[in-house]
Amino acid sequence: MKMNTIIAAAAALIIAVAGIVAIKTVYEKKSVELKNAAGDLSAESSVLTDETESETFKVRSFNPDPAETENPETVTDGASSTAEKETEKSVFSTIRNIVTASQTVTEKVTSQVKDITEKTTAAKPSATAGRAENKTTTTSSPSKAQTSAAASSGKKADYEYSYAGFNPQYANMDVADWTLILVNRDYILPEDYVPKLAYSVEGDTDSKKLDYRVAPHYNEMYKAAKADGIILDTVSGYRSYSLQKTNFENKIAKYENQGYGRAEATRMAAKIILPPGTSEHNAGLAMDICSLEQSFENTKEFRWLMKNAERFGFILRYPKDKQDITEIIYEPWHWRYVGVENAKKINASGLCLEEYLGVK
Ligand SMILES: [Zn+2]
Repeated sequence: MKMNTIIAAAAALIIAVAGIVAIKTVYEKKSVELKNAAGDLSAESSVLTDETESETFKVRSFNPDPAETENPETVTDGASSTAEKETEKSVFSTIRNIVTASQTVTEKVTSQVKDITEKTTAAKPSATAGRAENKTTTTSSPSKAQTSAAASSGKKADYEYSYAGFNPQYANMDVADWTLILVNRDYILPEDYVPKLAYSVEGDTDSKKLDYRVAPHYNEMYKAAKADGIILDTVSGYRSYSLQKTNFENKIAKYENQGYGRAEATRMAAKIILPPGTSEHNAGLAMDICSLEQSFENTKEFRWLMKNAERFGFILRYPKDKQDITEIIYEPWHWRYVGVENAKKINASGLCLEEYLGVK
């Protein structure tokens, strides 16, 4: 009899543990899915204002609330008395607490383990790097290699964030057509690159300057729009590598303070703020216009840009249907100079810049 009780108790315990593990797995999976979904909203915009940043951050750090998802009231429909209901409620709340606590611990441990793994891998990089390079050479078709050459300098960047898995090449700043300089997560600006700048609109502040070769074209577009009763307000132009780095480092520190390892914290930060050297703003080739809200697409200013910007050499750089390729959220406000001819060709082709240059 006693033995039976012990067996029954043990069985109950095993079932309970299995239950907790199953619930925990579901939550972790959901949480990761949500994080990934939110993470895809790679938020260049968050660099620009504190408000935008904190909003994006909220989306990123959202975790499903076990209390909401599990809804013990619904699950315990069969309970007849209040006392029974109370007991069940407290059991559920205990389970929830255990799940939440173990989830936090698991996340922290996973992050630490990842960091250690990466440090170990980073210690022997030459073999892997060699293999990766060979692979690129053998899989590229000649035509693709040709167009890619326009974007890439072919020089693997000595990037300060490579410990977090970022292994970009340097952008080709000497490309025959400078208007096609490609700057993104794969092709970064050298740390010491500072474009020669000029005001695009008279009386603007320094943060609204552009590359001196682009500024006159913005000015031309600004005046043409104004004649149509449209003000293309300059929100953000050139941003230095060092400012981008400060913003990025602050975000890394925030995650490190939450207990994440340096590499994981860096990867998390990169989903919210573009790492230094990867933003077109660091090159002075793009302007954020009027607003940093996606609702900007519903304005007459946006409609004017969609119709006319190509005549002045500007393109919508991060279109809604190209987010997988650009790895940047839809940004109706971000306009990149590529020259009139390229702008018209790109718009007519329906391709984004990466596709147009054949790198993706
Ligand atoms: Zn922008």
